[in-house]
Amino acid sequence: QVKAQGRGSYGFHTPELSAQAAERLELEARLRHALGNEEFLLHFQPQLDCVSGALVGCEALVRWNTPDQGLVAPTRFIPLAEETGLILPLGDWVLRTACRQGMRWLDVGLVLETIAVNLSARQLLQPDCVGRIEQALSATGWPAHRLKLELTESMLMGEGDETEQRLQALRALGIRLSIDDFGTGYSSLAYLRRFAIDELKIDRSFVRDIPAQRDDREIAATIIAMARNLRLRVVAEGVETEAQLEFLRERGCEAYQGYLCAPPLTPEAFAARFGPR
Ligand code: C2E
Ligand code: MG
Ligand code: MG
Ligand code: MG
Repeated sequence: QVKAQGRGSYGFHTPELSAQAAERLELEARLRHALGNEEFLLHFQPQLDCVSGALVGCEALVRWNTPDQGLVAPTRFIPLAEETGLILPLGDWVLRTACRQGMRWLDVGLVLETIAVNLSARQLLQPDCVGRIEQALSATGWPAHRLKLELTESMLMGEGDETEQRLQALRALGIRLSIDDFGTGYSSLAYLRRFAIDELKIDRSFVRDIPAQRDDREIAATIIAMARNLRLRVVAEGVETEAQLEFLRERGCEAYQGYLCAPPLTPEAFAARFGPR
């Protein structure tokens, strides 16, 4: 009887688990196919100067245009791409495509100070990481000093000399380094000293409830003050209201991105809005 019960509960859980595993496997196969099939595209979200409102750059954000479900957000496939290593070819593609787009805009007179690209941990851990990034630059002609790489805190925590050397090599090329989602990771602030970082991006979660939430106001203001004291640029993400922008501007935040100005845009929409007329 005990055995039957055991089998019963076993039988109850297994189909669920294997359905999940099967779903994962299918997603992985579809991702793999998507790379060869050119189903990925980039959207670009503008970054504006908080004071003048001038366009200072943009962030490239990948989307997956699936044949059956339309555009899929990166939060739904980046984690699996990272686990499976598919992020390596995908990351290369993103980098090149972003740089190529920057050159196209340059050709029509739309000059961006920087294009920011999200780099995943797997990419940074690759031994030939720096060489690959250099190749993307030389293949497209996009100047190194106009490329910004967004890293996360966890990528810098507990990483050894190799990571440090790679980041230094990237900096030596003129590439700028930004810490994405700042304040949400394991923040040992020591890495700000150890690694040559140019910029902090205040995570959206701290911006969302400004100005209503006192704690969030204080956190945002503290990050801005610290960044300024360390002579780092500071960018706020997820700015949706005038009140948020006003608060950030008053505290000395330099740049922002968010729906207040624009969501991530197709290259065409971006050029139509910000290009010369
Ligand atoms: P992230 O780098 O922090 O990007 C910001 C996310 O916030 C984007 O989501 C953007 O659409 C969203 N966002 C921007 N402004 C607002 C706003 O005002 N309000 C709200 N509610 N959201 C806003 P998205 O495009 O879905 O990207 C999600 C995450 O996926 C990114 O977060 C980044 O971590 C990752 N990701 C995107 N593209 C790439 C990529 O090419 N490579 C890697 N490794 N990761 C990527
Ligand atoms: Mg980012
Ligand atoms: Mg971010
Ligand atoms: Mg974020």
